[in-house]
Amino acid sequence: MATNEYEGGLKMIEELTTNAEQIQDEVLREILSRNAGTEYLRGFLHGQTDKQLFKKNVPIVTYEDLKPYIDRIVNGETSDILLAEPTTGFFLSSGTSGGQPKLMPVTAQVAKKWELFRGLYESPVIKYLVDINQAGKRMELMFARPEVETPSGLMATSVTTSIFKGSGFRASLPKLYTSPSETIFCPDPNQSLYCQLLFGLIQREEVVMIGSFFASTVLRAIKFLENHWQELRYDIKTGRLSHQITDSRCRNAASLVMKPNPEQADLIENICNCKSWDGIIRKLWPKARYIAGICTGVMRQYTAELEFYSGGLPLVSSLYASSEAFCGINIEPLCKPSDVSYTFLPNMAYFEFLPVKNERDESIEMKSNDEDTELVDLVNVKPGRCYELVVTNSTGLYRYKVGDVLMVSGFHNNAPQFQFVERKSVVLSVDMEKTSETDLFKAVTEAKALLNPLGFILTEYTSYADTSSVPGHYVLFWELKEKEGEHCKELDPKIMVECCFKIEESLHYTYKIYRKRNIIAALEIRVVKQGSFEALMDYCVSKGTSLSQYKKPSCIKSEEALNILDSRVTGKYFSPKSPL
Ligand code: AMP
Repeated sequence: MATNEYEGGLKMIEELTTNAEQIQDEVLREILSRNAGTEYLRGFLHGQTDKQLFKKNVPIVTYEDLKPYIDRIVNGETSDILLAEPTTGFFLSSGTSGGQPKLMPVTAQVAKKWELFRGLYESPVIKYLVDINQAGKRMELMFARPEVETPSGLMATSVTTSIFKGSGFRASLPKLYTSPSETIFCPDPNQSLYCQLLFGLIQREEVVMIGSFFASTVLRAIKFLENHWQELRYDIKTGRLSHQITDSRCRNAASLVMKPNPEQADLIENICNCKSWDGIIRKLWPKARYIAGICTGVMRQYTAELEFYSGGLPLVSSLYASSEAFCGINIEPLCKPSDVSYTFLPNMAYFEFLPVKNERDESIEMKSNDEDTELVDLVNVKPGRCYELVVTNSTGLYRYKVGDVLMVSGFHNNAPQFQFVERKSVVLSVDMEKTSETDLFKAVTEAKALLNPLGFILTEYTSYADTSSVPGHYVLFWELKEKEGEHCKELDPKIMVECCFKIEESLHYTYKIYRKRNIIAALEIRVVKQGSFEALMDYCVSKGTSLSQYKKPSCIKSEEALNILDSRVTGKYFSPKSPL
């Protein structure tokens, strides 16, 4: 986006949010008038396009309900089973259905919509750069995922990969970004990351932003740099790319820009050789003015560590989007990660909201039962209430539950703003109790404070419902790191046992009652070696998830993933008593 375009973007955000209701009606009218004749909608609407009939007759569905229709298109039947426009390919969502990634039909319109969305979510942050008079390049770490051919002959890929392939995006790469497309499309994620860091370091004086789609990828890159900066420095000094990089396209791209630069190599060495990596991002990229990467939802656990490396640079979560729809943007990009809200854009899809009872929050009153289950339109959601997002789009999803729970934090003009609460499907449960991602996050936050005096930091965690013995119990995998300057400290088993108890104590009432009645056994923390979560990420990437799309599972479900962590366990600790 050219800097003078951001003003147009900001103006458009105002117009869209002011006319949210009317635009939503138009979006639905257009979707129905185009698609009412599809096999799927004909069954409910009999060719009509009336909004009230749509609300009355079209069922609220999940992926499993639409899968038989999508599978037929994947297997080569014409797309008008579900959508009028021809399908040009499929998105592979990182969510899984029966162990397989979900496939969503894509049409030519989607790329255009993304370009529009990108222009809008970038406008507020570009305004910030213009206001502080800072221009330069973005070191955005991007990873394309290999495409998969479906039996229909159409290709399936991730949303991000299809964005990277877009002509508008490719054209903007050399001017705006440090990574050339050869590195983004390199099939080996580690070679890709190495080269992207190299290009970012070569252009370090020009970089104004460091980022990736999700915060976890930025952190992964910094850890990778910690392990590889000496090789990178040597490459910069000699002007020759390491022999470890075998990808010929990356080598060609590097050969075009690399020349010996011993001075720059010395500067990098001085910075990276420092005892503390506190604020390393700012030191390496002195003109950087923000770090981009979604820090909400499952990513919020990474903010503290990223803040350590950032040297006070703001962490910017710009957008909320999924394979199903591009939904909301952050119009206050400099706010604290814990305050991030996404303003929904009414032109992106038709949005409805299913009220979700927030069992833990008594202040949220639910009225009659009918009202609880009725879908609410975008402009009618209530501040403070939680909802599950339901999307109708132009690519064959009608009243589709995305699986995300959002809380209304306010309005911008007439468009609501939402905080991301959690993935609905992510619950830990060994009996009738349900523990959400948020419950777990809060409890772990309480417990990890006990590690401070010990000189350890919790860097990653995930969970697992172990029902191999009766009663079942919760297992948390913890990866710990020594605080800076506190080497070779011993992990005190007594404190670890206390952490187990603290988590149990901080979990919800149902959990505690079940523990008391021995329906759930004592919670266990399994401490894993450093690098275990990286190994988990490598495994997921080897199975086809791109690094750009990777979100660490909040709860381990697959046996292979469990084995990866279990084989790296260095200590097991159990809660000593029931929390009630
Ligand atoms: P995918 O369809 O694989 O791209 O994954 C989309 C999912 O990522 C969404 O449904 C959310 O669960 C999650 N997600 C996307 N954007 C955000 C965000 N800004 N904050 C939290 N979670 C997000």
